[in-house]
Amino acid sequence: MLSDRELEQYSRQLMLPDFTLEYQELLRDAWVLVVGCGGLGSPLAIYLAAAGVGRLILADGDTVERTNLHRQILHGEGDIGRSKAASAAALISAHYPDCRVSQFTERLEDEALAQAVNSVQLVADGTDNYPTRFALNRACIRAGKPLVSAAAARSEGQLATFDVAGGGACYRCLYPREGAATALSCRDNGVLGPVVGVLGTLQALEVIKVLTGWGESLRSRVLMLDLKTYAQSIIQVERRADCPDCGEGLGSGFGF
Ligand SMILES: [Zn+2]
Repeated sequence: MLSDRELEQYSRQLMLPDFTLEYQELLRDAWVLVVGCGGLGSPLAIYLAAAGVGRLILADGDTVERTNLHRQILHGEGDIGRSKAASAAALISAHYPDCRVSQFTERLEDEALAQAVNSVQLVADGTDNYPTRFALNRACIRAGKPLVSAAAARSEGQLATFDVAGGGACYRCLYPREGAATALSCRDNGVLGPVVGVLGTLQALEVIKVLTGWGESLRSRVLMLDLKTYAQSIIQVERRADCPDCGEGLGSGFGF
């Protein structure tokens, strides 16, 4: 049951004819791990907390730098030098006290990563490097959790959901070879702030879809956007039998 205050707070999304009270309760009861509290993680965490997601784990091992401020809207002038996860948790807690926030201020890896992934229903990847993306993919496969993955650099972005437990492809089915993916990071390639903001906002929408079942999600599909021209396309990702992370012959241990 939702309280009168909750009904008031979320009334505008509950007005949608097909967004039910049950969906709102699913959001309230959901735990989501947000990895990366930067350009993608900022709108992602804000919109998830604002929509009524009950628990967020915010993870980022970096500290806020001045070069982050044009796009990482969780952080401001006074946060320079501060842990991004701590800065993010403080803003989310202040604005959305109903959202219970945990923070990881170290880089999430190995056993800590496995534990964090196991404790949530869904993982949202807003990181900017492939070793972390691949590690998150393996942890999600092992734990049987869906992974909502976004990326943005320059004027381009992409968004997808990988759900191996649900019969779908994984992130490595898209990028099977180490180094095959061209690592586009904002640090090396630049980005306009609103570009990464659009992708982080779409990522929040996708998380809400996967958690509730509302609308059509991007399971095993990649939405590709070039916001310079507004060109967009969606490609299907097939599960690969020879995928290094989810392919056949790996047994239950997935070989890592
Ligand atoms: Zn795979």
